[in-house]
Amino acid sequence: MKHFPIFLAMEGQKLVLSGGGDAALAKLRLLLKTEARIEVFTADPAPEIVTWAGEDRLNLTARALQPGDVAGAVLFYAADEDAREDARTSAIARAEGALVNIVDNLADSQFITPAIVDRDPVTVAIGTEGAAPVLARAIKRDLEERLPVTLGALTRIGKRFRRAAEGLPFGRKRRDFWADYYFTTGPRALAEDGPQGAEEALNTLLDTHLNAAPRAGHVALVGAGPGDPELLTLKARRALDEADVIIHDRLIAPEILELARREATLIDVGKEGFGPSTDQTRIAALMIRHARTGAQIVRLKSGDPAIYGRLDEELTALDAAGVGWSIIPGLTAASAAAASIGQSLTQRGRNSSLRILTGHDTKGFAEQDWAALARPGTAAAIYMAKRGARFLQGRLLMHGASPQTPVTIVENASRADQTVLQSCLATLAADLDRAEMSGPAILLYGLAPRAALAEIPQVPEAAHGP
Ligand code: SAH
Repeated sequence: MKHFPIFLAMEGQKLVLSGGGDAALAKLRLLLKTEARIEVFTADPAPEIVTWAGEDRLNLTARALQPGDVAGAVLFYAADEDAREDARTSAIARAEGALVNIVDNLADSQFITPAIVDRDPVTVAIGTEGAAPVLARAIKRDLEERLPVTLGALTRIGKRFRRAAEGLPFGRKRRDFWADYYFTTGPRALAEDGPQGAEEALNTLLDTHLNAAPRAGHVALVGAGPGDPELLTLKARRALDEADVIIHDRLIAPEILELARREATLIDVGKEGFGPSTDQTRIAALMIRHARTGAQIVRLKSGDPAIYGRLDEELTALDAAGVGWSIIPGLTAASAAAASIGQSLTQRGRNSSLRILTGHDTKGFAEQDWAALARPGTAAAIYMAKRGARFLQGRLLMHGASPQTPVTIVENASRADQTVLQSCLATLAADLDRAEMSGPAILLYGLAPRAALAEIPQVPEAAHGP
């Protein structure tokens, strides 16, 4: 972040602008929304500026800016649309202690003005550090559509109620009350009965919430999908949005954790599949301890929680403690990996079944039904297979699998840094060594990228005996 967004206190502060043309007008339209004392210096003011001065909305001095004019100002805008004049005025402003913005000159500006969505007192500022004004405008347009114009009114009414709402205990209860006001009760009352109605509704709502029974703790075991935040389900997003506590594994992408509420407690239990740091007892104890405080907990697991997620162990512990739970399934790594190579996980005439396997389990390299796997036309999604690849390769070849069997390894499926390694059983271990993958990877056994199909001899399922 080269620019840090902040909201500057402008009430009664001096703000100076030099210029009187189009650029000055555009900035002034925005600045007039603030409660600053605006002073404009220009020998050639546009008629609008003269009008605003006549209405006392700003102070106009009809000459070029001189030393001393910016003294005591917090912000200065150089808007003469003339590089020499802008350099002259901004040097004065800087010397007199104001932060300087030069219109259309990012490099010499100390601050930039964001695109603004104004629902005062709710203000959304959008910045792209000058990189993509088109993008900023598109985001602004989108937000303008999404945020009702009544939001400002609703917020002003709500603000007067903050003291009264302190009768509710801090945290979940108070949050539920405000969420109810802003998203359900408030907009409805405002639309039907105007500001007065919204105020009355707020009174009634507060009573209801003051007398409501405390909520019971709950654990949602949520699948976070393979990494791309857009592959989260709507239910998962809602759960993240409402959670007080999020207990997550190491594989969860930071972009997904960003979706949590800022006040939520994030706990990294550092578990990676069957990795060494697994401590199920500790995780279960954590969930139960937080649930007993009435917290809404999200136990966030990569992919689908029901696939190599040790789901049952956690459910058993929750049941034993009498803690309520629900499961929100997620998109498993195999689905994302198959999508990335344009493959189908099952295909009529090729493989009517798909095996889901793990390369190693708690006891080390996992033993499988190798004979069945070695049969032509078999397809398997093998999780946690990197370390056990050589073992897997040896066993399969020993049981008669064709050395040409396609194997595709997808690392970081669905993430920005996704890589695909196309290999075959004969060269699997060597190819993997060379690739030096460090991210989570899934091995698709018997499946080649769609683009490569033409090169690989296909053995139809029906063509081999039992
Ligand atoms: N519940 C998860 C699997 C957890 S086990 C799911 O349904 O996907 C952890 C293993 O999942 C990793 O070792 C890796 O084999 C696989 N995995 C998880 N995310 C992945 C991703 N984005 N790309 C490739 N493999 C992934």
